[in-house]
Amino acid sequence: MKPSILIVEDETDLVTMLRYNLEAAGFLVSAAGDGDEALVAIAEDPPDLVVLDWMLPNLSGIELCRQIRRRPETRNLPVIMLTARGEEADRVRGLEAGADDYVAKPFSPNELIARIRAVLRRIRPALSENRLLYADLEMDLVAHRVLRGGRAVHLGPTEYRLLRYFMEHPGRVFSREQLLDAVWGRDIYIEPRTVDVHIRRLRRAINGRSERDLIRTVRAAGYALDAGA
Ligand code: CA
Repeated sequence: MKPSILIVEDETDLVTMLRYNLEAAGFLVSAAGDGDEALVAIAEDPPDLVVLDWMLPNLSGIELCRQIRRRPETRNLPVIMLTARGEEADRVRGLEAGADDYVAKPFSPNELIARIRAVLRRIRPALSENRLLYADLEMDLVAHRVLRGGRAVHLGPTEYRLLRYFMEHPGRVFSREQLLDAVWGRDIYIEPRTVDVHIRRLRRAINGRSERDLIRTVRAAGYALDAGA
């Protein structure tokens, strides 16, 4: 699965250049020209990481970053800020607004790609390995084995795919419809409530008696894998 990147930038030349380079580096790329467009795009199809320009029309990049951090469904979404302002004070402001990293313009595409990979590795070490780790959960993608705190967890095929999806996107809130699309596929019609049944089975399987529930239910929004639940 290719990691998806949303570029939020109003300079179309820069977007074209970034899109070309990021696609060549193996990313799926989408773009938004301002903050409102970005919020809609994130809600409709959450990317794995956002590259966010500081200077945007209307809502500034820094304000957009704060909004992303405030919303429970996007608060763990990785953000890299771009800016023409390379000063230390701006860097600090960007990081204080919740950005995971910061790249000053002008930059080379390779530098940005390296930063993107570093942030994704830190947040989703899963992307490059055959093993997914989250809290005390471990999923071996080759052997199809799941362990919690070293104890073997037995999952049905649907629960396995659900857990894999959650572990590939830890902390992110997914609606029932998004989980249906990702785990069952868009072509099959299944009642959204079916998701609840499988979440229940997944919880029963992974949460031992005295263990913390790793799945967070977000009212009216959906579910997330969240050790701080
Ligand atoms: Ca701009």
